[in-house]
Amino acid sequence: MSVTTYQNYIGGEWVAAKSGETFESRSPADADVLLGRFAASGAADVDAAVTAASEARASWRRTSAIARANILHKAAEILASRVNDVGRELTIEEGKTLKEGIGETGRAVQILRYYAGEAQQPDGEHYPSANPNTLLYTVREPVGVVGVITPWNFPIAIPAWKIAPALAFGNTVVFKPATYTPLLAVRFVEALAEAGLPPGVVNLVTGSAGGVGDPLIDDDRVTAISFTGSEPVGRSVAKRVSARGGKVQLELGGKNPAIVFADADLDHAVNHLVSGAMWSSGQKCTATSRALLDASIADEVTRRLTERIGGLATGDPLADSTQVGPVISDEAVNRILGDIESAESEGARLLAGGSKLEGDGRERGNFVAPTLFGEMNPESRFGQEEVFGPVLGITTVKDMDEALEIANSVRFGLSASIFTSDLGKAMHFINGIDAGIVHVNAETPGAEPQVPFGGYKSSSSYSREQGKSARDFYTQIKTVYVDLPSPA
Ligand code: NAD
Repeated sequence: MSVTTYQNYIGGEWVAAKSGETFESRSPADADVLLGRFAASGAADVDAAVTAASEARASWRRTSAIARANILHKAAEILASRVNDVGRELTIEEGKTLKEGIGETGRAVQILRYYAGEAQQPDGEHYPSANPNTLLYTVREPVGVVGVITPWNFPIAIPAWKIAPALAFGNTVVFKPATYTPLLAVRFVEALAEAGLPPGVVNLVTGSAGGVGDPLIDDDRVTAISFTGSEPVGRSVAKRVSARGGKVQLELGGKNPAIVFADADLDHAVNHLVSGAMWSSGQKCTATSRALLDASIADEVTRRLTERIGGLATGDPLADSTQVGPVISDEAVNRILGDIESAESEGARLLAGGSKLEGDGRERGNFVAPTLFGEMNPESRFGQEEVFGPVLGITTVKDMDEALEIANSVRFGLSASIFTSDLGKAMHFINGIDAGIVHVNAETPGAEPQVPFGGYKSSSSYSREQGKSARDFYTQIKTVYVDLPSPA
């Protein structure tokens, strides 16, 4: 079977890496499935992309917001017409189930539509002045050239929620996707290009962190960097961008708690603990990784979780019956198995899973059994650090105060859930939890595009993505004093 070689998109043209080199994208469910070859780019390609974005900057900024919105609308319709095909490719390239792959692609469509609308919202404010003859107002203007660096776990939704607002508010973009998921990045940029985005407004450069990420971060012409990924990388990106005076936004990891009280609907809570921890193989920054169970129902909920997690169908993500697909890579399998081993050595009790899965073709992919631990010590490494895989730890708590103390004891603060039928308890939790996203009676993942998204503490950089908040990052404010001639 012939294999397609995909190229970078720079200055409105699809072009090979200047080195001519490529890398492969293979399915995490089956290493024999090759999705394509992609440009293995380097500093020269980044330079060309930043040059194209810089040159396109002035005319895109002058393009009316209505015209920008129309292009985003058109891109949304193009992607919507391909949602099943692109969703299927997402499943093959990233490994989440087909329902999730199509769902995420639909989310990207929804985000494009949302920011087409946002582009048409008021872009400034009018103020009273001390001088009655002064017209005093503010106007939001684009920040300039934005570098977008994304992870592989939401290979089309995260690029969409960064690139759509960047474009809506008049910026030009250089996009560096994760090395594991270049095909989905190509599919997103194809929709934008076909929608009529002028040359240079969006530029795609595929390749490694060192080859593409480093030169993009360090280029002075890139006024802002929006980064989503792991905490250590994010911190170093922020340091470097800030040191050269650039604007930077980070969305990082999580260690998200879900607290279950005795007055909750336990069937519902167990369903949400399982889906929150295990769908997408636990590879969501908002995945539930800590179940904090009230002592009076801990045994019962633990028993149900053990049964449910131990029985999850794990395998080919394209199969209808599959609930949990592979993790992203062989390195991820080894890292997660290492974390499982260290959790056991710290005294956590293995209740389900805990190993690599093989058989039924799974030996060709990267499968880890959905894993449940009891007796997770909240102070242990397992209780504190993100695993980023299908692993849930249980800790028993005696009351709300202890639950909140443990929930808040980690350095992350992305999302959190409480399951209770007591409104007073829910409000106490909402007010006391250090998290950017709080769910009552629902799993910790789950985010709608029209509201702010981001974390407290080390999960973020005190900025927010999506919703109206995205405007804060992708624009800067100009304050204008117009002193009118005195009336004759
Ligand atoms: P990662 O940090 O390894 O990579 C993220 C991106 O940064 C990739 O494109 C990668 O190539 C690039 N990169 C890596 N090193 C770089 C460097 N030195 N310079 C420039 N770019 C570099 O993260 P990942 O493994 O792709 O993603 C998983 C992590 O992302 C998890 O920690 C997860 O919690 C986090 N995440 C956070 C959110 C959120 O919104 N908070 C959403 C999804 C994922």
